[in-house]
Order: sequence, then C-alpha cells, then structure tokens
Amino acid sequence: MRLVLASNNAKKLAELRALLADLPVDLVAQGALGIPEAEEPHRSFVENALAKARAAALASGGAALADDSGLVGDALGGLPGVDSAHIAPLPAEALASALASVDREARRAVQDAANNTWLLQRLAALPGQGGERHAAFVSTLVALRHADDPEPLIASGRWPGRIGLAARGRGGVGYDPLFVVDAGGTSAAELPAEEKNRLSHRGRAAVQLRELMRERWFA
Ligand code: IMP
Repeated sequence: MRLVLASNNAKKLAELRALLADLPVDLVAQGALGIPEAEEPHRSFVENALAKARAAALASGGAALADDSGLVGDALGGLPGVDSAHIAPLPAEALASALASVDREARRAVQDAANNTWLLQRLAALPGQGGERHAAFVSTLVALRHADDPEPLIASGRWPGRIGLAARGRGGVGYDPLFVVDAGGTSAAELPAEEKNRLSHRGRAAVQLRELMRERWFA
C-alpha cells in the first residue's frame, strides 16, 4: 500500500520507513508527488496531525500519514506546544541575516536559538522551587486509509524530562540542548542518535502506530 507522508523532512521519512519496514507499506514523501504542505491552524497536536493527514489523503487519493510534535511545559500551560517551531519572534537583525541565507539549516538554527532563549526567559520569570521546569516532548502520529476514513489510527508518544538552566551538547535539534533527560543533567543533545530515537516521543509514537497498523489494517 502506498502511504503518503505529510512532511518533506528527509530524516523523518527515513526514521519512519525503518520503523514500518516490516509492514506492506511504501512510504512516500508528499513533496515527491507535488503535494504542498498543509496549514496547521489548530491548538492541539492531534488536530494538526489529522488536518495534515487528511489534506495529503485528499490530494493523493489514498492513504496518508502525518505527525505533529513539540515541547510541552508543565508550568507554561503547555507552551510552546503546537507553536514550538516558531514560539519566539525573530529579532529584526537575525531575521534579515537568516533570510539573506539560502541555507534552510542556517535559518532553522537561528530560529531554534531564539526559541531556546524564549524558553529560558519564560521559566526564569516564574517563582518556584524547580518543579516548574518539568516538561515533555510529545509526538502525535495520525494515519488514514483515505480522506473519508472514519477510523483514523492515532498514536501518541511522550518523553518526559526537565528544562535545564543552560544549553548542553552539540548534537540534536530544536530544544534538545535544554531538555534534561536524567538525574545527571544529560541533555537530549548529548545522546547518541540511536539512543535518542529509542527513548524519544517520536520513536514511542511510531512503535505504537506500527502495532495499530498491524492490528487494524493488515491483520
Ligand atoms: P516537528 O513537528 O517535528 O516539525 O517539530 C515542531 C517543533 O517542535 C520543532 O521545530 C522543534 O522546535 C520541536 N521539537 C519536536 N521534536 C523535537 C525533538 O526531538 N527535539 C527538539 N525539539 C523538538
């Protein structure tokens, strides 16, 4: 079965392909079929993932898979949540230099750094004893057999941790350098990639989705 992934992120495609390798699905990025990225107008991960999966299913005329993910801060009412990618407005100067660069990775690095600063500042402004730094990465995957599928498969993975006082580690993406995963203060940016994939919200959601597909679509 062809399954259209509602994302053009090559890393996600490779990761999900590997996780779904033992199922009879051929995962194809929507960009390869000329399908544009859909809007993400909603306030929860599941609603956005469903909207993206439905748009890709409609455009392709077949099965589609979408994910939406982000960081949820306990003491911030769930922020940055669905706004994780762009919670911090970029300062004009950074914006100009980022836009001047054609390199997508460079733009992402500028935005990630601004997001991390936003997070540290919001937490620093809170009174408390440390509990206010609890947070989790969350990933929701939604799969549809077709655009009118009344029974979407929904898998959600959660990776609990804490927000550190300062960035640590050179690997990882997004909020990884601030996301503390153990009592020793190790950040997600310090974990080897395989270890992160095993522990992560996305890895956990993908394992659940594989089981749901096996049970409901391919039994
Ligand atoms: P996306 O849904 O994978 O595009 O993620 C949305 C945003 O959430 C990213 O731009 C990051 O800011 C944040 N995010 C999601 N997953 C991770 C992760 O594993 N590490 C760090 N940041 C993440």
